[in-house]
Amino acid sequence: MRLLEERIRKDGVVKEGQVLKVDSFINHQMDIHLFNEMGKEFKRLFADKNINKILTIEASGIGLACIIAQHFDVPVVFAKKAKSINLDGEMYCTKIESFTHKRVYDVIVSKKFLSEDDHVLIIDDFLANGCAVAGLVDLVRSAGATVEGVGIAVEKGFQQGGQLLRDKGLQVESLAIVESMNHETGEIVFREQ
Ligand code: 5GP
Repeated sequence: MRLLEERIRKDGVVKEGQVLKVDSFINHQMDIHLFNEMGKEFKRLFADKNINKILTIEASGIGLACIIAQHFDVPVVFAKKAKSINLDGEMYCTKIESFTHKRVYDVIVSKKFLSEDDHVLIIDDFLANGCAVAGLVDLVRSAGATVEGVGIAVEKGFQQGGQLLRDKGLQVESLAIVESMNHETGEIVFREQ
């Protein structure tokens, strides 16, 4: 998606450790017009899928998922990072290792909000090693629901997540795929798609 690539080139900041900062328009301050265009694009890319729910993970996926959901006219559920887990059977649980914080979180979704009737689009801001999305897929499948696809704003194509998920047969659509980036020069190269 050209508009997103241009914005990343203009306002994205390449940090050490292969981290791309996009906090002026996605992760902290949010450009809702850009999110709206992203919603239109995901609606086009998943036009043949019968999606009735969007699942994301707190915190930075939530704003994006809500604007995207307006194009699908479906509710958004966000998985919560739990501090202490109450394993009383009311929650689906999984573990996700955070790329940015280098720690493992227990992540939960209430059984009230995911069921075998659900056809789910997973949305997240970044795809790096794929742990976050793999955990969300796990939650959906624990509920007996169907993953219809995965929509990502920015995929770091030089990390393994995208390949791993596509090899499992998932339809993963990333609106910008960073092929390489250099924190010394600030150069960002996108994959042609
Ligand atoms: P993964 O689980 O695929 O390794 O990492 C995805 C998660 O880590 C995303 O939810 C995102 O919040 C965070 N993340 C991974 N790489 C980056 C990055 O380069 N920049 C930012 N801002 N977040 C990232």
